[in-house]
Amino acid sequence: MSKLKINPDTLIRHNDSEYKFKDLIDLLLKPCSKVNHNVYRKAVKKVRRKYLRQQEALKLEKIKTNFPRIESRPVDEAEVEQIEKEKAHRIWLEREKLAQLEWKTKKEQNEKILLKVKEKEKRLEEISKSKQSQKTNLAPGLYIKPAFCEQNWEKCGFYERTGVCKYANLCSKSHLIDPNGTLTTLIFPAMYSNMLLGYELLKNDKDSDEALEYEEKDILINFKNFYDDVVSKLKTYGKLVQFLVCSNYQPHLRGNVYVQFEDECDTKAAFQDLNGRFYAGRQIFCYYSHVKNWRMAVCSKFLRNNCDKNRMCNYLHVFNDPYNEFKIEDLSNLAKNLQTRSSLGAWSSDEEKDLSSKENHAKKTKKKRKKRSRSRSCSKQRRSHKHKK
Ligand SMILES: [Zn+2]
Ligand SMILES: [Zn+2]
Repeated sequence: MSKLKINPDTLIRHNDSEYKFKDLIDLLLKPCSKVNHNVYRKAVKKVRRKYLRQQEALKLEKIKTNFPRIESRPVDEAEVEQIEKEKAHRIWLEREKLAQLEWKTKKEQNEKILLKVKEKEKRLEEISKSKQSQKTNLAPGLYIKPAFCEQNWEKCGFYERTGVCKYANLCSKSHLIDPNGTLTTLIFPAMYSNMLLGYELLKNDKDSDEALEYEEKDILINFKNFYDDVVSKLKTYGKLVQFLVCSNYQPHLRGNVYVQFEDECDTKAAFQDLNGRFYAGRQIFCYYSHVKNWRMAVCSKFLRNNCDKNRMCNYLHVFNDPYNEFKIEDLSNLAKNLQTRSSLGAWSSDEEKDLSSKENHAKKTKKKRKKRSRSRSCSKQRRSHKHKK
């Protein structure tokens, strides 16, 4: 170290200021009264040591700045708590994220299931609705009001009078009827088809000898059996006021059975019980109809025996009533009369009493006549009943 040569101009710090090497020696020697060689040497050594210390310190400083030492700081409890809190918060956040994702997927799955269930319910509802509409199908087109329907839409005369129309729902005219009217009439389309069809076909084929085998008389006997079968069954539901069977050859009228009850409830009971049942091996159906004016429904020319269209007529041509039980007349006021009578309840004026008693008397005499005529006809041999339940 003694060999180290120091430039006299090098700067050395002393008391917060910098001095040149030789200046610092002079500064140190100033307070001395006597300056000999030894004193000078001591001062030089002192300054040199100072310089070396400072150099050493500088080196250390450099190392420190280049490689900063990781100092273990003193452990602070509050800080540790804070770190723990942050860690917990981070974990909670991640869990929350996962839970939300799970919830979202579950929700989507649930929504899908719900949608499927709703669709299924909707389909079932539609099916049940269509079934119901089939069941309670009143006269075709009764409550179905097409979009183009207007109040002054021309009514279909055939439908208005007979309750059927050969164009059915494709008819350009209105098949709408008064929805407030009482429905006491049922139509059984093509219920009576025995022999009539075969007879008509054979009759057209003039060369066939078989046609001769089927005479009008046979058909009448067959019809009487049908009449006995069906009317007795219908009477179990309530009082019958009309029973007509079409002999028309037109497909929409052929074998149609028209039935009118006195009471709307009886009509409903018959409708519900007979729809879809089997008669003579064939399933039968019926629907409500507004027709009550039988004078209008039945072909007036047919009643006078001079209809040119014969069985191709679009108005009713009917079989003769074997017991003259039901008359072809306007029965549209029957239900209304019943309603007004029932609205009075047990109370009635004297005039009405007289009227009702007269009516009852008339009915009784009518019944007696019927019974007599029936007993006469019963004596004739009947064919076996084909009614199946
Ligand atoms: Zn029509
Ligand atoms: Zn006619």
